[in-house]
Amino acid sequence: MSDKEVIDPQAVLDGVPTGLWIDGASVPSSSGATFVVDDPATEEELVSVADATVDDARRALDAAVAAADDWAATPPRERGEILRHAFELLTERADDLALLMTLELGRALPDSAGEARYGTEFLRWFAEEAVRISGRFTPAPAGTGRILVTHAPVGPSLAITPWNFPLAMGTRKIGPALAAGNVMLVKPAHETPLTMLALAEAFAEAGLPPGVLSVLPTTNAGEVSTALITDDRIRKISFTGSTPVGRHLLAQAAERVQRTSMELGGNAPFLVFDDADIDAAVEGAFAAKMRNGGEACTAANRFLVQSGVAEEFTTKLTEKMSAVRLGPGYEPGVTLGPLVSAKQRDKVAETVDGAVADGARVLLGGKAPGGKGYFYPATVLDQVDPYAPVTRGEIFGPVAVISTFTSETDGVKAANSTEYGLASYFYSRDLERCMRVSGALESGMVGVNRGVISDPAAPFGGVKESGIGREGGTEGIEEYLSVKYIALT
Ligand code: NAD
Repeated sequence: MSDKEVIDPQAVLDGVPTGLWIDGASVPSSSGATFVVDDPATEEELVSVADATVDDARRALDAAVAAADDWAATPPRERGEILRHAFELLTERADDLALLMTLELGRALPDSAGEARYGTEFLRWFAEEAVRISGRFTPAPAGTGRILVTHAPVGPSLAITPWNFPLAMGTRKIGPALAAGNVMLVKPAHETPLTMLALAEAFAEAGLPPGVLSVLPTTNAGEVSTALITDDRIRKISFTGSTPVGRHLLAQAAERVQRTSMELGGNAPFLVFDDADIDAAVEGAFAAKMRNGGEACTAANRFLVQSGVAEEFTTKLTEKMSAVRLGPGYEPGVTLGPLVSAKQRDKVAETVDGAVADGARVLLGGKAPGGKGYFYPATVLDQVDPYAPVTRGEIFGPVAVISTFTSETDGVKAANSTEYGLASYFYSRDLERCMRVSGALESGMVGVNRGVISDPAAPFGGVKESGIGREGGTEGIEEYLSVKYIALT
């Protein structure tokens, strides 16, 4: 938040459309149904939002298909200018947008302010990429003709997004889809639909033609997305969320051989070698763990610390984590808000209890405070076996789990020992080791001596069961383009 003295949540909520966003307007659900979006800090209702049905999804797809040809034929420069205009509008509204995200998601306002900047930046990046879609011309080596390679929009696209970054998870898909000349339907997570609705409205103000972007909040995710995926007119599915749901969507997409991008779960290892700058490693560890209150797919999920520096690192990280202030995310001075839901809070609590039962030592936190709100405190566990059950799944909360290792080989082996491969991090001052370890880690992204890696200009994505495809960078727009080869004489 900038220097605004008065935080007025009601004014921000009053400004958000709460209907479905279809054909350039906010409309009620065809069933008239709505669902409640609550404030994770108080468990009280913020607003009710229209609950999309299968009929609504078909209506949105009809509008999208009707708009598709004109949008694809709109000059790239014009498409880019609309994206740029949306970027500017959202930048002007960054404070309100940050507060809106904190209201529906719970997390602390400084984190939301960070996402307001990071999320809108994808629109600027892809506004610039819109005019750089190019092709290739080659004479056939045998002299038998000429090869022209062009790119066409992939076609009407469906985006399904999670709750943990309500803005960025949308802009990472909408930016490249629209820049490449596609129409898009977005199904946001029902926990946090408001930010995406505010985004759709800003796009309309920026001059986006009706039908090009629709937003379908719903509590019937399975039905609504199945109706769309089984419709031949949808040609691309871009999903960010958990690996089990991604697997299910991949199976559905296989029926019609639709293009897919899958940004799935993570279980990032964070290694600290004996030769690391420990104070820098603690700063990086704190950022990698506590950004978004730990509710990030790139969050450091397992700290693997070489035995010679384990005590110093653990003491310093615990000290830093103990300075975190837990409270409603919109209260000044709060650095850790509640988790998004009771389900997430209970899942984190069960994970910690299980780790303690398996022998972990609690150095900080470890118990939900009780009372209203989905709060869980900053927690540090050490003396954890690097292969213990707690290190196998995503924690998705403010819990640091510390294990030790002796040799570099053992550390890398433990780091690579899960089915995930999204992000990994390590700290070392030895250049050769930096090159060796960054090559050996099985992940789509590696942070070397840094704890935050996301950047709109970089390709974000995973290997193994963390997903397929990349978002951001020059790679991000390729996910929304089909290659067409034209053979010439
Ligand atoms: P989730 O998989 O439960 O839900 C994600 C989205 O899928 C939501 O919109 C949800 O409504 C929808 N969904 C759920 N079941 C569905 C079904 N049967 N058919 C169609 N849609 C369905 O995940 P979540 O709890 O919202 O988000 C957390 C997960 O997202 C974590 O696993 C996290 O690692 C992952 N994530 C990954 C990235 C990445 O870029 N790799 C980024 C953020 C979050």
